[in-house]
Amino acid sequence: MTLIFSNIDSELEKAAILLREGKLVAFGTETVYGLGADATNAQAVQRIYQAKGRPNYNPLIIHFAEIEDVFKHVQKTELAFQLANHFWPGPLTLILQKRAESPVCSIATAGLSTMAVRIPAVTEARKIIALSQKPIAAPSANPSGKVSPSTAQHVIEGLNGKIDAIIDSGPCKVGVESTILDISGAVPCLLRPGGLSIEDLRPYCGKIESHSPINNATIRSPGQLSSHYAPSLPIRLNCHEVFDDEALLAFGRSSLQAKLSRNLSFSGDLNEAAQNLFATLRFLDSEGRRIGLKRIAVMPIPDTGIGLAICDRLQRAAAPRPL
Ligand code: AMP
Ligand code: MG
Repeated sequence: MTLIFSNIDSELEKAAILLREGKLVAFGTETVYGLGADATNAQAVQRIYQAKGRPNYNPLIIHFAEIEDVFKHVQKTELAFQLANHFWPGPLTLILQKRAESPVCSIATAGLSTMAVRIPAVTEARKIIALSQKPIAAPSANPSGKVSPSTAQHVIEGLNGKIDAIIDSGPCKVGVESTILDISGAVPCLLRPGGLSIEDLRPYCGKIESHSPINNATIRSPGQLSSHYAPSLPIRLNCHEVFDDEALLAFGRSSLQAKLSRNLSFSGDLNEAAQNLFATLRFLDSEGRRIGLKRIAVMPIPDTGIGLAICDRLQRAAAPRPL
């Protein structure tokens, strides 16, 4: 049975106890809902992979409450320290060399010598991490490959009965996953565009390489699966027209007409579009199927700022599915 907690302190304390006992607890962050487990407990981490149906070669992001806790587990470089101070808590994940003495279990990092680390911005998320006194492994709280969850209800739809508890902290404010920046090597490398824009990172990093699948570059991280974030209905991108059997995912001013349509942001605001993205995809998918539509047509969306993350998610939602 999955317990549903509100975000009051006494419930957060109960959630922290569950985490310490090796249980799985989903909680809201500013990006998407995460599925948390004690990262030092191999059995608990194994249960994350099982509950999500996630391949075990796809490593997890480890979440912390405080910057000094992070650097007990990964090497502290000058750039890491600067980025941590400017952007944490927030939607930035850093890949750094794992310290030999870190008790984070190797299945959480898929056996890599590096570790993905982040401090989330939602106060309640940081509170339960701090109360648990553990590093918390937390991938998105949805079945692997499917659309990410931006509300507690989305988590229930995907994982009810498979996890121990959910803390409902309302809808996620950013709405897309964190930006993943690998700074474990000589040149910083973008592995996933996300809630923090590359334009914001550039002043600190200078040159940033990109290994995001959106550029068809070499896949460098084991989790960069091309088909991901996938609704049941196929997706058609960059549409300037809509066919009779299609639902429409619009952005900005649009004169396109469809039997079923939703606009990510009438005013063309990319932050609003990111916030609405996953809930809107879920709605068009379930309602579209219910009324017999065959596809979701998506209008062009600019790939600047957080738009790059939106385009990445939509391209992967549109990618050919594994058989
Ligand atoms: P999710 O937990 O679903 O947000 O996905 C986490 C992403 O972080 C996946 O794409 C992983 O491949 C990536 N990741 C986690 N740890 C590492 C690492 N040590 N090196 C490179 N990528 C990583
Ligand atoms: Mg995910």
